[in-house]
Amino acid sequence: MDDGIVIVGGGLAGQRCAETLRREGYDGPVRVVCSEPRRPYDRPPLSKGLLAGRHEVGSLAFRAPDWYARNSVELLLGVAATGLRAAERKVELSDGSSLAYEQLLIATGGRPRPLPTLTGYDNVSVLRTLDDALVLRDVLGRRGERLALVGAGFVGLEIASTARALGLEVTIVEAAPSPLHGVLGPILGSWFARLHEDEGVTVLSGRTIERLEAGRGAVRALHLSDGHVVAADHVVVGVGTDADVGWLAGSGIETTAGVPVDADGRSRLPRVFAAGDAAATFDPSLRRHLPGSHWEAAARQAARAARTMLGLEPVPAPAPSFWTDQYGLRIQYVGRSSATDSIAIDGELGSRNFAATFSRAERAVAVLLVDRPRNLPAARQLIERGTP
Ligand SMILES: Cc1cc2nc3c(=O)[nH]c(=O)nc-3n(C[C@H](O)[C@H](O)[C@H](O)COP(=O)(O)OP(=O)(O)OC[C@H]3O[C@@H](n4cnc5c(N)ncnc54)[C@H](O)[C@@H]3O)c2cc1C
Repeated sequence: MDDGIVIVGGGLAGQRCAETLRREGYDGPVRVVCSEPRRPYDRPPLSKGLLAGRHEVGSLAFRAPDWYARNSVELLLGVAATGLRAAERKVELSDGSSLAYEQLLIATGGRPRPLPTLTGYDNVSVLRTLDDALVLRDVLGRRGERLALVGAGFVGLEIASTARALGLEVTIVEAAPSPLHGVLGPILGSWFARLHEDEGVTVLSGRTIERLEAGRGAVRALHLSDGHVVAADHVVVGVGTDADVGWLAGSGIETTAGVPVDADGRSRLPRVFAAGDAAATFDPSLRRHLPGSHWEAAARQAARAARTMLGLEPVPAPAPSFWTDQYGLRIQYVGRSSATDSIAIDGELGSRNFAATFSRAERAVAVLLVDRPRNLPAARQLIERGTP
C-alpha cells in the first residue's frame, strides 16, 4: 500500500500543502496530524478581530468540515507527533501509534518563547492558539483593567491596540530601546512607540523586569530595572516565538532555529520537507537560514514544498512580506531590512501615512507602508528589482 504524504501540523502551512497536493492532481493518501483538537484555522485574527469580538470562532477555519471528506484529506486531530524515525520513514504519535510515509512535511509552526520569571501565574498568558485568544478575550472584556504587555513585537502591539479600543489601561515593557527595534531599527521603532503613546499606551522601552510583586498565584506588579513599578491585573508575555520542533530531537535533523531547508522546502533528510514557522529557509542573498514567522511565507513555502514533492517546477518566490493592523491602520512590509545603511521617507514620519524605503549599498531591500495599501504592488516590484 502507498503510505502517501503525512503532514505534521495542521496550521496554515499544513493546510496549504494539502490543498496544493490535491489541486495539482495528487491522488495518494494525505494525512494531517495536529496536536490541536480543531480543524486548521487562521491565526492573524486572534490578535485582531477575534480579540475585539468582531470575528466568531467558526469564521477562522480555513475550510468547511466537508472539504476534508470531499478531498480525501484525513485529519488526525488532538494527536501530537512525538518522534521521527527517518530511516524507517515513520512518525511516532502521542497515542503510542506510528504513521508510515512516502514523503513528510514538517509544519508544526512556532510556540511562544517562555519567560521563566513570569511562568506559573494565573493571570499571565501568551497568544498563539485559539484557546489562548479566548482566555485573553475574556480579560479584554473587563473595561478599565490594567494590562501589562511584556515584549513589543507585532503580536504584542496588536494586542495593545485592541485592548485600548476596548478601554483597558495598557503598559508595554520592552527590553530593546524601542518597539520592533530588531526588525525596523530605531527610527521606525520610535514611530511605533509614538503611535501607541498617542493612543494612551504607556511604552517603557529599554527596561527589563527586575522582580515581581505577586500574591495568591497572581502577579500584582512588575518592578523594572529603572525603578518603575507597573501595577497589573493581567500580564501578556510576547517575547518572540521559537520553532516548535522539540519533537524532532534525535531524528538527525538539526533544529536550533527551525528545520533548515532549501528554497523548495527540502530538509537534509531524504523525503522530509518543512515549511512555515517550523522551517528555517536558506536565503541566498544573506547566505544563511532564516526562521519563519509570517503568514505569507508559510503559505508560499508550503505550496512550493507540495509541488516539489510531486516533482513539479517551482513557482518563482516573491519578496517576503507581512502585514499588521494597529489602531485602524494597515501597516505592510516587503523585503528584509537587516544590515541596511539608509532609509528614505516618502510622506511625513510624524504622520500616519508614509512609506519608508530601506536600502543597502544604494539597493532598495525593504519597504514599510503605513496606511498605503495601494502602494504594495509597486513596493513589491521595487524590492524584487532592487533598483530605485
Ligand atoms: C496572534 C497572531 C497574529 C498573527 N498575525 C499575523 C499578521 O498580521 N501578519 C502575518 O504575516 N503573520 C501573522 N501571524 C503569523 C502567522 O499566523 C504564522 O506565521 C502562521 O500561522 C504560520 O503557520 P504554520 O502553519 O507554520 O504554523 P501554525 O499556524 O502555528 O500551525 C502549526 C500547527 O502545528 C501544531 N503542532 C505543533 N507541534 C505539533 C506536533 N508535535 N504534532 C502535531 N501538531 C503539532 C500546532 O498546534 C499548530 O496547530 C500571527 C500569528 C499569531 C499567533
